[in-house]
Amino acid sequence: MQRSLLHDVWDREHLWHPYTSTIDPLPTYKVESAEGVRIRLADGRELIDGMSSWWCVIHGYNNPRINEAAVLQMEKMSHVMFGGFTHEPAIQLGKALLEVAPPQMHNLFYADSGSVAVEVAMKMAVQASVARSGSHRKTNFVTIRSGYHGDTWNAMSVCDPVTGMHGAFGSSLPVRFFVESPSVKFGEEWRQEAMLPLERTLREHADEIAALILEPVVQGAGGMRFYHPQYLVEARRLCDKYGVYLIFDEIATGFWRTGRFFAWEHAGVAPDIMCVGKGLTAGYLTMSAVMTTKDVADTISAGEAGVLMHGPTFMANPLACAIAIESLKMLREQDMASRLSSMESSLRTLLAPARDLDGVADVRVLGSIGVVEMKRPVDVGRFQKKCVERGIWVRPFGRNVYVMPPYVISDSDLATLTGQMLEILEETGE
Ligand code: PMP
Repeated sequence: MQRSLLHDVWDREHLWHPYTSTIDPLPTYKVESAEGVRIRLADGRELIDGMSSWWCVIHGYNNPRINEAAVLQMEKMSHVMFGGFTHEPAIQLGKALLEVAPPQMHNLFYADSGSVAVEVAMKMAVQASVARSGSHRKTNFVTIRSGYHGDTWNAMSVCDPVTGMHGAFGSSLPVRFFVESPSVKFGEEWRQEAMLPLERTLREHADEIAALILEPVVQGAGGMRFYHPQYLVEARRLCDKYGVYLIFDEIATGFWRTGRFFAWEHAGVAPDIMCVGKGLTAGYLTMSAVMTTKDVADTISAGEAGVLMHGPTFMANPLACAIAIESLKMLREQDMASRLSSMESSLRTLLAPARDLDGVADVRVLGSIGVVEMKRPVDVGRFQKKCVERGIWVRPFGRNVYVMPPYVISDSDLATLTGQMLEILEETGE
């Protein structure tokens, strides 16, 4: 105990945690191990995980099948450079991903993280756009407000300009075109006027825009908004009309999180470029992939540089690939559509009582994502302390208190997780 206490003091003094002050850091809880949906703290307490470690631990922690796949691969090789070499894990994973991607996807690039996948997707769009149009002017981006695409430079530039990091980085960020986020919510009746802001911007600025980038159907860290899939159908039509590429960031929505394998399936329209990450490696290692059409890939290759200008050190890391292959196998072996529809209906029932709480503005559920939107911002430190005392793990941001547990969570754990969460909300009146 003494040792772990010392360690925590050292951690507080020296380690940066995400979005955390060094002067007044939020508390952190030391984790000893994790299994299934249980996170075990160093002091012996156990928490039911409601976060899947930010969308990615889809099969639960310490999964025996994925562990075995990792060990088998490690005994062959953990890594080898991808420049000049290829390997079976990269090939097998590539095949498996292209099988579940929109049929138009033909070429695949492995990257290191979600943010880097977004950088690569944006670079693809710029290179292809310049090659296609012959204009070095057609290199900017349009996006919808309330989006989130990661923390690297270009990814930040297309995050929501108010809730994102534009305030902190100001004029050092490239200036993008932002349009109102889709005004028709998921489940509402479609209204065509929702497209007017995008249409206007494309009409006026298409000669400067390489691509439209957005998160399909669910806007995650930018506000946990669920919007009408018809927006994607119309966006596809407008992108074609104005000669602008369409990028879907499926990093959070992929691998069944919204009730479909990928969120584009809600709309049935394919992008030109698509990013996946997070759940790809079931929360074991960092890896992402960017897929695109043969047309985009060949346009880039026929362009000035003749190649896509990116090539990370850990590209197609065999260990990460082997883990992802096993995870995809596990998804294929199960009836995930029924699993997700049952999680969705449980979450709807379990979260419904939140509507009667004073501080609650909205409750919404899609697939395995359950959101309670509050009227005022939630005090994360205070809220998490109460979660840990009650044996659950939920990390709110802004006004949103939400869960997206691993798909292996049992009915009774899901009921405990949501029940405790609602009691905290009632108690604190956040
Ligand atoms: N895009 C989306 C939609 C995301 O939700 C995230 C991560 N929250 C990212 C990109 C960035 O991924 P990473 O944190 O792996 O860089």
